[in-house]
Amino acid sequence: KYCNMVEDLKGKIHVFCRTRPLSKSELTHGSQCIVQSPDEYTVTIKSSHGVKEFQFDQVFDGSTSQEESFRDTNRLIESAVDGYNVCIFAYGQTGSGKTFTMIGEKEPANLGIIPRAFKRIFQIIHENQANFTFKVLTYMLELHNDQLLDLFINPCEGSTTKLEIRKDRKGFVYIQGAEIKEVTSAEMLYALFEQGCTNRHTKTNNENSRSHLIVGVTIKSTNLSDGAVTYGKLSMIDLAGRSQEANSINESLRSLDDVISALSGEQSFIPYHRNKLTLLMQDSLGGNSKTLMFVNISPADYNAEESISSLTYASRVK
Ligand code: ADP
Ligand code: MG
Repeated sequence: KYCNMVEDLKGKIHVFCRTRPLSKSELTHGSQCIVQSPDEYTVTIKSSHGVKEFQFDQVFDGSTSQEESFRDTNRLIESAVDGYNVCIFAYGQTGSGKTFTMIGEKEPANLGIIPRAFKRIFQIIHENQANFTFKVLTYMLELHNDQLLDLFINPCEGSTTKLEIRKDRKGFVYIQGAEIKEVTSAEMLYALFEQGCTNRHTKTNNENSRSHLIVGVTIKSTNLSDGAVTYGKLSMIDLAGRSQEANSINESLRSLDDVISALSGEQSFIPYHRNKLTLLMQDSLGGNSKTLMFVNISPADYNAEESISSLTYASRVK
């Protein structure tokens, strides 16, 4: 109803590749950029193994702005308002730009996908207010050491409510015990998100790359002419980076790999249940949902191996 391009994305995992620019310190240390994008669907990477080429639904190079990298995400946000479950997450090695892509920085030009999505949701709502009423709810969680934490609860107040991942009759995942807030504007949603980020910092001593951040926005819309109700959900996830040690982060990322591999194959059994991360994502990966994965890579020569491994993994997904 709001968008006519939604059908083509259903059930598929779309993959956008984004390369960050070389950092100042990489430039001063003489790191070479080994990643090129000859066109907007292709990325090439040069290493001791020669030049490898990968194709994705979109390829963004180091000069792509936050606004440009959000542009193609727009229609997924429309789908969520339209009643689909949509999941957007970033995958890649630590330092490759996942958090920059998903959250970004405070100045308007550098805002990432999450705050831009907030704005877009309410824009769409305003455009359709003559024919629909909307109710928007949000929750914000952190998955740290296989433990779910509610980021809407101030850690100093120390809630002891145990969070449980459940599914309702319609197959929607919900978190029993989590704070769910109703929001009526993008500003209100952003203010809650900021508060959640502050709570996150207090809890994990700034070690944000050691936990997964999950932001959920559900949109209920009621058609004023016939009373029909639809529910959509947008899940946006800033994943922790894979780490050297064997730990719960790697376990959850491995479960996500397994789920995505199963979805991209013809398998009927999808192993969602093995981990809290995939349990949380189960209504937003596969089936009727729409998934967008950013694969973030570093352009630097010393990251070649990690970048090739991320690209190889991501190109298997489609
Ligand atoms: P990750 O979350 O994958 O560990 P970050 O998002 O924290 O990585 O990025 C690492 C560093 O690179 C940060 O200082 C970030 O500001 C910078 N960075 C990442 N992507 C970009 C980009 N596209 N443009 C400019 N700086 C970027
Ligand atoms: Mg990060």
